Amino acid sequence: MKPQDQPEKRLAEIRGRIVSCTRCPRLVRYRQEVARHPPKRYAAETYWAKPLPGFGDPNASILVVGLAPAAHGGNRTGRMFTGDSAGNTLVRALYANGLANIPHSVSRDDGLRLTRCFLTAALRCVPPHNTPLKEELENCYGYLSEEFDVLGGVKAIVALGGLAFSTSVRLLRDKGFTPEGGRPVFRHGQVYKFTQGQGGRIVWLLATYHPSRRNTQTRLLTQKMLNNVFRRAARLAGVKT
Ligand code: SF4
Repeated sequence: MKPQDQPEKRLAEIRGRIVSCTRCPRLVRYRQEVARHPPKRYAAETYWAKPLPGFGDPNASILVVGLAPAAHGGNRTGRMFTGDSAGNTLVRALYANGLANIPHSVSRDDGLRLTRCFLTAALRCVPPHNTPLKEELENCYGYLSEEFDVLGGVKAIVALGGLAFSTSVRLLRDKGFTPEGGRPVFRHGQVYKFTQGQGGRIVWLLATYHPSRRNTQTRLLTQKMLNNVFRRAARLAGVKT
């Protein structure tokens, strides 16, 4: 086995555990209930209705952390950031920076491939009203922690929204990283430098508004703003785009 095969194998093992996870009874019920009552436009589809594992390049330099699958996006299609407006906005920004091979994210078999980039989330099941309980976030945190350990080459984390940001800060602290310049605060476009131990590995944390339909429709977040965040992430992570 080649050394670069190893992360793929370990991620597959984590993926298997995530997909069969039933640790949060409220979310198990909700993800299935959503699938039983689809809107008209998806009435003919069979929903995934299971937790979502991370998706992307096992040799990623950029880790993208979202909040949770969308009811009729990831929970329907079975892939992180796929099948809804937020996914398309995100993948367009990745494509604009050479991190994705196509500028949209429609279904698990749409041919999307990510380069040097991996998509994951703080929570793997869709929560009612997009609002997870504290214990559900706690239950799910271990999966993110494991993925981060496998993706040993990550140099930049892009956190989509406040909750993804606070989860990413916790993750980095738990892995022995310390932020420069005091307590990190979520603000769109803000970048924090984290160093592991004394002068060890560096990971940059970039904050952006979540590319939800509401945020893009109100122009709190434009495509250009998100493209710029990823351009900066790619530069900081040393990814040639
Ligand atoms: S949210 Fe995470 S911990 Fe809870 S059931 Fe889904 S995959 Fe399991």
